[in-house]
Order: sequence, then C-alpha cells, then structure tokens
Amino acid sequence: MLGLMQSQPLLISSLIDFAERHHGEGEIVSRRVEGDIHRCTYRDIAGRSRQVANALDAMKLAFGDRVATLAWNGYRHLELYFGVSGSGRVLHTLNPRLHPDQIVWIANHSEDQVLCFDMTFLPIVKAVHARCTTIKHFIALCDAASLPADSGIPGLQSYEAWMGGQASKYTWPEFDENTASSMCYTSGTTGNPKAALYSHRSTILHAWASAMPDSLNMSARDSVLPVVPMFHVNAWGLPYSAAMTGAKMVFPGPAMDGKSIFDLIESEKVTFAAGVPTVWQMMLGHMQQGGLRFSTLKRTVIGGSACPPAMIAAFNDDYGVEVLHAWGMTEMSPLGTVCTLKNKHLAMDANQKMAVRIKQGRGIYGVDMKIIDEQGDELPWDGKAYGDLLVKGPWVIREYFKGEGGAPLVNGWFPTGDVATIDPDGYLQITDRSKDVIKSGGEWISSIDVENIAMAHPAVAMAACIGMKHPKWDERPVVVVVKKPGAEVSREELLGFFEGKTAKWQIPDDVIFIDAIPLGATGKMQKVKLRETLKDYQLPTA
Ligand code: AMP
Repeated sequence: MLGLMQSQPLLISSLIDFAERHHGEGEIVSRRVEGDIHRCTYRDIAGRSRQVANALDAMKLAFGDRVATLAWNGYRHLELYFGVSGSGRVLHTLNPRLHPDQIVWIANHSEDQVLCFDMTFLPIVKAVHARCTTIKHFIALCDAASLPADSGIPGLQSYEAWMGGQASKYTWPEFDENTASSMCYTSGTTGNPKAALYSHRSTILHAWASAMPDSLNMSARDSVLPVVPMFHVNAWGLPYSAAMTGAKMVFPGPAMDGKSIFDLIESEKVTFAAGVPTVWQMMLGHMQQGGLRFSTLKRTVIGGSACPPAMIAAFNDDYGVEVLHAWGMTEMSPLGTVCTLKNKHLAMDANQKMAVRIKQGRGIYGVDMKIIDEQGDELPWDGKAYGDLLVKGPWVIREYFKGEGGAPLVNGWFPTGDVATIDPDGYLQITDRSKDVIKSGGEWISSIDVENIAMAHPAVAMAACIGMKHPKWDERPVVVVVKKPGAEVSREELLGFFEGKTAKWQIPDDVIFIDAIPLGATGKMQKVKLRETLKDYQLPTA
C-alpha cells in the first residue's frame, strides 16, 4: 500500500522561491570585482534568477545544456546558481585556478554552451576561447559600460545587458528531481579530470542535512561567509542551505587575503564562516599581528584538508570561536562528516574535548560509511583499526559524467581513497590519502599526524610530511616546512619538538625548509609536485 502524501519533486527552484517568500528582506552582500561592496536581498536574487532563466530561454538553450561559470563568490554567481539549474540547465562551475589547457579540456568534455565569467578572468578566457569548441555565448559578469571594446572574444556580451532586459516573471518548470542540476570536475591527480554530476534531489537533500544542528547548524539568525569558492563543489552547498534557512550571505569576491576576510567578518557581523585551513592560516596571522578580536563570529567549518589541532585551539582558546572540523569530497556534494560533540563529552575537560574535536567528525544522516582491510573485510569501529574508507548515500556519486574512469562503486559503496579510523562513538579520523600513507618497517605512519605536530610549533606556517625511500625501512618520513615570516627554528629544534608527542619511530628523519609548498587548484598541498621537487634529496645516513 502506498502512502497518501503529496509527491513534490525536490527542485532547486523551490529554494529561491522559499527564500523570496519567507526571507525576502534577507541580505546578500558581495565584495565585487569592481572593488565596492554590493548589497541586495533574496527578493532581488529571486527576480534576477528568473531574468537569467528568461535570458537562457531566449538563447534557445536546451534543457540539460551546460552553462559554465568562471567566477568568484558573489551575487551574480548566486543568480546563475538558481537561474541555470532552476530552468533545467546544468550549472558547470569551472575552477579558474586550473591550467588553461585543463580548462579547455574540461569545457570541451562537458560540452559547455555558454560561459559566464568575472572580468578578473578575462585573460584566461582570451587565451582559451578559440579552443573551447562547444561554447557559443560568452558573457562577462559586469555591466555594459565595463565591457571591453576590443576583447577579441566573438559576440561577448555583458551580463547586465544580457539578462537586464528580460522579464522577472517566469514560471519555474517542474521536472524529475533526479535531473542533473550542476557539475564539478575533480582535480584528478592521475588521468583526466572526472566530473561529479549532481542532481536536484541530491543537492536539496545535501543542503537539508548540512543545515541541521549537528552539521553546520544554520539558521535565519546567521550571517554566513563562504570563503570556500562557489567554483568548487558548490561552496560546500552553502548557497543552497543558506536559501533554505534564510541566512544572510556574505561573499568575499576576489579578496581572499587575511585582512579583507577579517574586515568583512566584522563589517557584516558574520556569525558563521567556511573555508580551507590555508585561508584561516592567513587570517589568524593577520589578527595576531594586529592584536585583533572578533565581535560576532561564533563558529567556522574547516575542511578540504586536515585542520591542524593548533588552529582549532587558536580559534577556540584565543578567539572563542567553535571550529567544526568537517570531511568530504567533490564526489560527496561534499559533506560526509562534521565534528560536533555529543552530550557525554560536555562534562569532559578541555584536553579531552580537544581530542574529539581534532577528528573529522561523525557521519551526518544520509551518509553511511565503513572501513575495510586489504582483503575487503570490514574493520571494527574501535578508533584504532585503520583501513580504506568507503561511503554511500543519496548525495554520493554513482558514477562519473560520461562514465569516465569506469564503474567506481564496490558492491554499492564509493571508495574514497582515504584511509581512516572510526571510534566507537562513530567519529571518523582521516589518517591519510591512501597514496600518501608512509610505510616504514611494515607499519604505517600517518602523514597528517606528523604535520599536525609540526604545525603546533610557533615558528611553522605550513608542513607537509612525505615518505622517502629507505634501504632498510622501505620508507621514512621527512617533514617539509615553511616558516612563518620572521620566525626562526632549526632542524634540530623542530625534530626535538616531536619528542614525547609521538612514537619514536614515527618522528621524521629530517626537516627540509622550503619557501613555499605547492598548492593545487583547491588549496590542497600537492605532494606529487613536492616529491618531484625533492627527487634528488638523500635521507641523512646517521
Ligand atoms: P576534493 O574532492 O577536492 O574536495 O578533495 C577531497 C579530499 O580532500 C578527501 O578525499 C580527503 O583526502 C581530503 N579532505 C577533505 N577534508 C578533509 C579533512 N577534514 N581532513 C583530511 N582530509 C580531508
């Protein structure tokens, strides 16, 4: 017997309809490429999203066609999020930090028809447009007056002229909730990039689950600053969960330095911010130098790579800000786990709480996870056994766009490529990417553990631990370190700093000081590149 409840497809257009109706006055604040601060409301965004939908219809763009963006976080990008997906087209967020050749490859692979770009990225578009063979329309996210006369890009239009003349009345189409809504290519350290193709249903369910109290705890009383880019995994779904809850949104535009981010948090009374550790590293550095304090920030979600415990402690102890350490992947929309405490932890002392907070957290409802050994057998949730992490759930991919890379699932589970432990309370701790694990004398050393210890030293700005070939032990860890500006620490002092903090055999054999650790397009350390740079390095013989 079937239930007798209404069956309404979960569509992205319903989010902006809801935000307009219930939070029409809700503010959307954007620092723009133009340099100023722009203010509008959910009501404005809703109207302009419908104008975008009308403009796409006027272009005769088919249902399911891809509309690409090369853009910072801002209100026009938000309008495209709703206007493109809401009208049944697929929003394809391109990552401007990729090499132009990769952008060409990706745009051709996804068969983009339209490219909307911020003026910052005009040089990239100039360099690639002739090779992007499927793109018919180039739209610069600016007004007509700011459009360059001699761009060399055929038919270039300004966004404001393109959508501005359209009606703001539009009836969002109703269709199957499993229809594709947006796509994002993974960085792909091996082979060609592969795309996760999100659906309306997966996007709404992910936004719903991520807004919950033990996830990101979002509400209409929040002022949310996504420093995570809208060009990578939909800024962790925040544009959708903010519309779902009516939270104020604050967009940083191109200004990602510590001072600009801090100033925006203060001026827009931000209560909740989201970003990768490197962004917060810059902001904390700026605050420490200037003796600055937050007046409104309550919590920040940090993920994308392991958040060093020293950063969690700095936010918590020095600034009274709760860090939600989170883990996820492009293939997971991205949220998988978020670290919030359980009731039983509240009575614990600060050190015990910290031991929980440094983990990547508990699975949120909807994401199922397990760890397995080399034979594929499931490992216990005892906080000690570590193995390959597999996940499944309604916002985890089934396969990549165009079947690229073959069938990824193993008996219905998606192998994450991460190695982890899970404790009896369900808290996940990532020890490594499986390709970064260091095998020494038959035992595994977690590069993240080594990096976390190094990062706790006051002179260390960034640390990467990699394995180096060793004739006896197979591999031994070395730690590559970038010092904080003006700070000093010697090799011997840093190695001494590890004493007592980890098992002796897990202490790195050497410290290599370097000016900068290469970062990838999504802000992660590129250990493959680092290994290449250090290919002639020899471990100390003693
Ligand atoms: P991406 O798909 O580019 O977002 O990268 C996903 C990968 O980033 C994961 O598979 C992890 O290896 C890594 N990652 C994400 N969040 C964390 C975290 N909190 N701690 C450790 N690694 C993380």
